[in-house]
Amino acid sequence: MKKVLITGAAGFLGSHLCDRFIKEGFHVIGMDNLITGDLKNIEHLFKLKHFEFYHHDVTKFVHVPGKLDYILHFASPASPIDYLKIPIQTLKVGSLGTHNLLGLAKEKKARILIASTSEVYGDPLIHPQNEEYYGNVNTIGPRGVYDEAKRFQESITMAYHTYHGLEIRIARIFNTYGPRMRLNDGRVVPAFIGQALRGEDLTVFGDGSQTRSFCYVDDQIEGIYRLLSSDYIYPVNIGNPNEITIRDFAEEIIKLTGTKQKIIYKELPINDPLQRQPDITKAKEVLNWEPKISRTEGMKRTLEYFKSLSKEELYKSEH
Ligand code: NAD
Ligand code: UDP
Repeated sequence: MKKVLITGAAGFLGSHLCDRFIKEGFHVIGMDNLITGDLKNIEHLFKLKHFEFYHHDVTKFVHVPGKLDYILHFASPASPIDYLKIPIQTLKVGSLGTHNLLGLAKEKKARILIASTSEVYGDPLIHPQNEEYYGNVNTIGPRGVYDEAKRFQESITMAYHTYHGLEIRIARIFNTYGPRMRLNDGRVVPAFIGQALRGEDLTVFGDGSQTRSFCYVDDQIEGIYRLLSSDYIYPVNIGNPNEITIRDFAEEIIKLTGTKQKIIYKELPINDPLQRQPDITKAKEVLNWEPKISRTEGMKRTLEYFKSLSKEELYKSEH
């Protein structure tokens, strides 16, 4: 039986990865320090013989007994609000955490896939973004703690490949949404849906002309699974190229939820990228992958999830 270590297992993407690898017949070790994650995302796995959970901060030495075939390093705050609140931990998990996991991969002769991000492109000057683009990041801006940690993560991962011959995979993940996102994590999908369900106005930052391209979680997990199984060692964009302005997206949520609320405008956060759309030519070529789930369908499923949460969770405020 193949054994996989998934860091960030109690988070949004990590928990869906745990489900997928269990379904594929792997022995799964989930690791998380719960800084932005929640055990309820994986509690349904606790009764399984082939799932183990380690409560551990990956910036500290990581030890896993026995053999290990694969590592998926997904631990990291991922929402701008989270990484602005815990900037040092964000830098540490991308740098020290990645170093620890690369060391573990080397010792176990395991293949490692790291969760990189479209944020390595910063506020991009080319559109759509392909993997050859080097990016436009403000190192000392508020988002720099995340962007530079992820850029360093890619560099050290590639160095472990060239210097130690480690088997590496690099997923550049673009905005992904779906069930198990934290309602109050500040990212736009849970923010708008939460506001609509609570009967609050929807807060669009700036004039809402900035764009994003939203990928449903099942498509994202399929892309990551295929990348891990491939033999391609360079970065691959994984996301949905269907681009929309944030203002139009707010209108879509108003229609979808039937809320009577309106849009209100708030200040645009510093260095908020003005446009973002993945060029997924490489993913199509190398992984024979492209997203299948439309935003209409994905948002419907996501809304169902948020509607199933308790009133207490809906009104819980973190910020
Ligand atoms: P999330 O916040 O839901 O999950 C991250 C998990 O990592 C949490 O459970 C958190 O507790 C855990 N964690 C953080 N620091 C840790 C540490 N030091 N030790 C152990 N665990 C730690 O976020 P997510 O959306 O699931 O993102 C997962 C990964 O994917 C991140 O690396 C993120 O950068 C990357 N990513 C996500 C998106 C997206 O749209 N969701 C886009 C690009 C990249
Ligand atoms: N955004 C918004 N209102 C909100 C939350 C976010 O207008 O309540 C905007 C944000 O400024 C950004 C986009 O939505 O332009 C996506 O933000 P998110 O935090 O989801 O992810 P990002 O792609 O910026 O990392």
